[in-house]
Amino acid sequence: MDYFFHKDGSMFAEDVDLHEIAREVGTPFYVYSQSTLERHLRVFDDAMTGLDRLICFAVKANSNVAVLKLLAKQGAGADVVSGGELKRALKAGIPGERIVFSGVGKKPYEMDAALKVGIKQFNVESEPELEVLNARAIKLGKVAPVALRINPDVDAKTHEKISTGKAENKFGISWLKARDVYEKMKEMDGIAPVGVDVHIGSQLTDLEPFRLAFTKVIEMVKDLREAGHDITQIDLGGGLGIPYGDSAEAPPLPSVYGQMVQDVVKEMMAEVDLEFIFEPGRLIAGNAGIMVSEVIYVKEGDGRKFVILDAAMNDLARPAMYDAYHNIDPVNLSEEAEEELVDFVGPVCESGDTFAKGRLIQPLEAGDLVAIKSAGAYGAVMSNSYNTRALVPEVLVRGDQFSIIRHRIEVDELIGQDQIPNWV
Ligand SMILES: *Cc1c(COP(=O)(O)O)cnc(C)c1O
Repeated sequence: MDYFFHKDGSMFAEDVDLHEIAREVGTPFYVYSQSTLERHLRVFDDAMTGLDRLICFAVKANSNVAVLKLLAKQGAGADVVSGGELKRALKAGIPGERIVFSGVGKKPYEMDAALKVGIKQFNVESEPELEVLNARAIKLGKVAPVALRINPDVDAKTHEKISTGKAENKFGISWLKARDVYEKMKEMDGIAPVGVDVHIGSQLTDLEPFRLAFTKVIEMVKDLREAGHDITQIDLGGGLGIPYGDSAEAPPLPSVYGQMVQDVVKEMMAEVDLEFIFEPGRLIAGNAGIMVSEVIYVKEGDGRKFVILDAAMNDLARPAMYDAYHNIDPVNLSEEAEEELVDFVGPVCESGDTFAKGRLIQPLEAGDLVAIKSAGAYGAVMSNSYNTRALVPEVLVRGDQFSIIRHRIEVDELIGQDQIPNWV
């Protein structure tokens, strides 16, 4: 559930008319609803009632410091995948003990930064990484709390570009090899094995892959504890899907997902005090944000009608990258107009710059606003300035207030970053 809806024919974000933001900020822009972000965090947290838990928002889904801060105030931690994201999380006031660090390619300087602030857990994805982390920790006089990210070799049944839990994917350490790697940690003075981690992909709409992966994790924790490792932190990753409006995808509710988790871990919890870490990203932010764009032209093609928007694939990459489906709604709703079939495209010089094909919508004309829904996750974070387009701004709404949380990076600012060598 979100707080974007039509009232008297106009679309609102909470109590703010989107026209009002468009007048002040210009288009295109992202807008996030604070109440929706908070609500999604609460719903996920409620689903895990009874578990000792830390919900580490996956910063890569939406890394705006204002968003991180409002989630942190509700108790969220952060899952970061780079030194840059670590800096953002710290700037948002998230303490080290609520930060976990994932990713296959952590560099020594990034490890140092995380060691210095005493993060909760390094999710280590390979033996070479473990060795470097050990050396850095010893050098700094620290001990790194480590969970191995195991690759359970299950098919997440999601888009191949966001599937991460098959043996052929670059992520994690084979679950068959992981026990040996934990044994090696006993010899490493800079490493304290504290947990086991798994993350099998994103936008999962089926519970079974999760259940298979989590069951393997629990078995592994059992074995490791029997082998004398004091493993108490279980990181079950993120990946729960959200409805994008495409009826083919019906992800389970967080409560159903939570029940499955509780079923899988119940038996073990009766014997050991376990702490659970979750890393939801999309579930928290996806439907808490939209992108608003203005129609520039409506063009009659051969048997097709193109609605050309002032937003493009550089502002929202998901349709071009993952063939993602996003609902597109008119901001000004006209009840009686007869709908027609259109393609929504952007101005960028690539055919991939298409947001949607064959959508039924009321007739649109130049100057109309549309809302591209479910754009709060993997939207602004992936935006760029391809075609020398200004970098899209972000706005946060709370009740009847709104505030720009990233200004539009204008073209002159972008061009000003280029430097011409004196020999040219
Ligand atoms: C991307 C990612 C997440 C978040 O995935 P969502 O599908 O947005 O929930 C969590 N953990 C890791 C390690 C990731 O790479």
